[in-house]
Formats: sequence, C-alpha cells, structure tokens
Amino acid sequence: MKLISMSINGQQRVGIIVDNNQCKVLNPDIDGIPSTLECLIGSAEHQAKLNRLVRDGLDDIESVSLSEVVVQAPLRRIEKVICIGTNYADHSREMGGEPPEIPVVFNVFPSAIIGPEQQIRLPAISQKVDFEAELVVVIGKGGKQIPRESAWEHVFGYCCGNDITARDWQKEKPGGQWLLGKTFDTFAPLGPFIATRDEIPDPHNLKIQLRLNDERMQDSCTDQLIFPVDYLISHLSTFVTLSPGDLIFTGTPAGVGAGRRPPLFLKPGDRIEVEIQNLGVLANTVVVDS
Ligand code: MN
Repeated sequence: MKLISMSINGQQRVGIIVDNNQCKVLNPDIDGIPSTLECLIGSAEHQAKLNRLVRDGLDDIESVSLSEVVVQAPLRRIEKVICIGTNYADHSREMGGEPPEIPVVFNVFPSAIIGPEQQIRLPAISQKVDFEAELVVVIGKGGKQIPRESAWEHVFGYCCGNDITARDWQKEKPGGQWLLGKTFDTFAPLGPFIATRDEIPDPHNLKIQLRLNDERMQDSCTDQLIFPVDYLISHLSTFVTLSPGDLIFTGTPAGVGAGRRPPLFLKPGDRIEVEIQNLGVLANTVVVDS
C-alpha cells in the first residue's frame, strides 16, 4: 500500500494511492479508519481493518484525483526523528572522513518536518544550506532491545526524506553538536507517501537520486549503506525505546553541495527533487525565511 496524509475540503484524511493520479479517501465515519497516519500506525486493530478493506477491493471507497487534494507530510506529530550520519562510504570520503565503525547518530525535532511541495526556508543566519537525499524508515510496532533477526517486524514502511543541513551550524559553530544545523524549521522534507513494508521487499537495493533544478547531484543505490536497516533498528533500540511513527533517516550518498569543488549551497528559487525507486518523488522549493 502507498499511504498519504492529505487535506480534502478542509478535512484531514488518510488516502491510498491506487495509481499514479488517483487515490482512495478513507473516511473515519464510514470506513472506520483514523483520519491521520499517526493514529493508524499506532493501532494494529485499524491496520487489520485497512488490510481487510484492501483485500475486499476498495470498490466502495471514494476515489479522487491526487490533483484535487493537498498532500501533506505523511507524519508530523511523532515522538522521534533519528538520523544516521555518514552511512554511505562514498559520502564519508567526500566529507573527508573514514567510514565510522559504529553508526553516527543524531536527531532533529519533528517540528522540522514539512511535506511535498512545501517550502524550505533559508535562515538568515546560515550561508551554507545543503541537501541530503535519504531513505527514511517508518517504525510500526515499537520496542526496546530488538534483536536484529526480528527488526523487520518493527518496520511499518519507507518514504523519501531530505535531511536539509546548515553546514556552518552543523560543523563550524556549536561545539561539535549537529542538532542546530539540522533542525531549523522546514529542514526535514518527508514524503510524498509511505510505502508499506510489503511493497519494498528489499530496501537495500533501491536507486536513490537527488536533482537540483533538474540537474542530477546525487545518484546512488541503497546497497551502498554501511549500516543496513535491520542493524540500525536493533542498534538504536539498545539505547531508546522505538515508538510507532518514529522515523529513521538512514543517511545520504555522495554528491552533497559541501562535498563539491567549489562547494554549492541552496539559494532562493531552487527546486529539489529526491527520488527513490518505488517511493516516488519528494519535491520542494527553496525560499528566504522571512
Ligand atoms: Mn543526513
């Protein structure tokens, strides 16, 4: 299933994309499915109900063109956004380091999340805002001390993410802590939909690309991940309890602006597209924060 969060006629709804341009609108009063993905992901009972609806064919569910709805970030009101740094060997080299022996982990606040076609705002206090295409894992069933063998049971699905980064505030100013450079408002574009786990049998073999104003800047494959998804889930759950809806940004491949000669940073009017195989295109434009 490809699930979206949307607003239609001012109402919050969960939708299922049935082909490229159409989606089924789930109505809590008629279909008994919650109006947000946050609620759906937290409820095994509602997910079972949704699976029954899909099995029955969705024929009775209202269908609309995607152009008639506002597609939002799939998830916003969640507990944690956990990010993995330098998780592709090629990106590690371009940033001048060695591949890490244990994962580099940081976080951003969920308040940084925006949806497809929402604007990334360049803060006045940074001159070095950069892009990072990333595969994002959405946690379904929560847990602590999750063994690697059962990590997949905790994956709800996957989507595209863009780990927007103010390099000057990531690396140069705040004493080695990455948080401030990563968590400015609008710095975590997410979407356009969540593909459930069954749609993506192998998350470690997906093409991942980023285009800036139609020019390809990042072009790699998730088979280049240093620490794979199941390892990350097990490792992270050693430290924190993972909760339904938690996001793991799994890291970015080579080609970011800071790794280029000369370096290249975002400017107003730029358009960024993150595309991951079977996970759609996440597009956002860049404006000056005002
Ligand atoms: Mn990143």
